[in-house]
Amino acid sequence: MSRVLAAVAWPYANGPRHIGHVSGFGVPSDVFSRYMRMAGHDVLMVSGTDEHGTPIQVQADAEGVTPRELVDRYNRVIVEDLHGLGLSYDLFTRTTTGNHYQVVQELFAGLYDNGYIVAKTTLGAISPSTGRTLPDRYIEGTCPICGYDSARGDQCDNCGNQLDPDQLINPRSKINGETPEFVETEHFFLDLPAFAEQLNAWLDTREGWRPNVLKFSRNLIGDLQPRAITRDLEWGVPIPLEAWRNRDDKRIYVWFDAVIGYLSASIEWARRTGDPEAWRQWWQDPEAQAYYFMGKDNIVFHSVIWPSILLGYSGPKPQSLGALNLPTEVVSSEYLTMEGKKFSSSRRVVIYVRDFLERYDADALRYFIAVAGPESNDTDFTWSEFRRRNNDELVAGWGNLVNRSISMAAKNFGEIPPALELTAEDSALLAAVRAGYDSVGALIGKHRQKAAITEAMRIVGEVNKYFSDQAPWKLKEDKARMGTVLHVALQAVRDCNTLLTPFLPHAAQRIHELLGGAGVHAPMPEIRDVEDLDNGRTYPVLTGDYTVGAKWEHVAIEPGTKLAAPTPVFKKLDESIVEEELARLQG
Ligand SMILES: [Zn+2]
Repeated sequence: MSRVLAAVAWPYANGPRHIGHVSGFGVPSDVFSRYMRMAGHDVLMVSGTDEHGTPIQVQADAEGVTPRELVDRYNRVIVEDLHGLGLSYDLFTRTTTGNHYQVVQELFAGLYDNGYIVAKTTLGAISPSTGRTLPDRYIEGTCPICGYDSARGDQCDNCGNQLDPDQLINPRSKINGETPEFVETEHFFLDLPAFAEQLNAWLDTREGWRPNVLKFSRNLIGDLQPRAITRDLEWGVPIPLEAWRNRDDKRIYVWFDAVIGYLSASIEWARRTGDPEAWRQWWQDPEAQAYYFMGKDNIVFHSVIWPSILLGYSGPKPQSLGALNLPTEVVSSEYLTMEGKKFSSSRRVVIYVRDFLERYDADALRYFIAVAGPESNDTDFTWSEFRRRNNDELVAGWGNLVNRSISMAAKNFGEIPPALELTAEDSALLAAVRAGYDSVGALIGKHRQKAAITEAMRIVGEVNKYFSDQAPWKLKEDKARMGTVLHVALQAVRDCNTLLTPFLPHAAQRIHELLGGAGVHAPMPEIRDVEDLDNGRTYPVLTGDYTVGAKWEHVAIEPGTKLAAPTPVFKKLDESIVEEELARLQG
């Protein structure tokens, strides 16, 4: 047993989540956390909404609301989206809490005290027509490094390099097309080059990372520059230094505050459990493991910048929270596209999680993401492929096995029949299924979820073949053998259900009940309205009791357990849904 931190990327609170957002890190981190808990580890899974920054300010201005009103709205929407998918956060919170402000300011002050934050005069962009600061990502121009003509003021999406807005060739405002003016302004920078040697030494010790993440990170370290951690903006965490604390025109940069959320959410979780020091077991015990889940556009923050912050806070001078652990592994996914196009809310190439869940089951999406998601390649979501996998694999493979084995046992015995004498085929099947605990578990542990669910479904296929070969429906004259075959099949179903529980928790709970099981098999998160621990505001969090539920182990079924005729666990999708959904996309 070890302590495992599952640190999941923070969704930006500027709109509802679409399935591209949740396929890269939301569902994979939940599959991992559920498996690790079942395997006996003490998991702390945290995240929240990322709510500061200029884009929120700009969107709030456009809608005529305050930034706080905007983030209050989308924090709740996103909490509901993630709840609908059954993502088992120990705490899903937000970055506008009093606790988060304190932790961010503590890390800023600690880094400053250790000499890793330096002040610099820089050129900031302002809009000539409004006189206001023009946020980086609303400045577009040609990348000075690769020549890409739609680079943003903070980053080039083509070559991946970080930029400053004044480096762009032919800069223009994305809001109204005007050319920004550049004026001198003072900002704080994180001295990233100071960490290059330590970062390289740390990366040398990493095992099992996806090669693209390691390679990308090493390239970044070769060319590290000091990075601005403050911005000209009113919406954000105040700078905790004398002479800066009360300035309302300068704030900590949103990326710096958001990445600290992993730590602040762990501390908030501990404070809410009544043991405010409990977070230390995941952040300071050298045996504790920390896995970070994100899309590939965020690798730099997790493999380079966040480790630098952790190193810089941990020494040379000890700070009040103490030294903090570096990530064990940075698990980055690739992109999901939609019918061959990039997801885009503005161009309506999008399917929101809430709309999806109104029409389809969460586990149908979770299955598709696990088996065909962007784990290690960019992948495409198409409605015809979604329907095919749902119908041919989930319904015809797994659902059909559950249905026919339970309904035949219910009809002929009304309960789980005993196994009398096992044949070689019976024993071989049971052994093959039990081997799945090792094979499927090892693959999930190594973040190879596509291979893991493929292996689980291969085992389901073996059970289906056994069922067809043994043909228990032909054994009406030999009830003892019929009962034995059904017993073996039901035992295999029970084991397969455990192997599939991290992927399909909603279905797993139902199948557990169909097999006559009571109580919680796959624990679910709940939405709870809580009071801010520091300022009395109320907000919704996702949390849950995940100490209950099935373990990652074989449990023998009990003959005599009452069975009723099952209703189908998965829904077959009609051919017409493909055209309906494509019409909605074009709508
Ligand atoms: Zn570029």
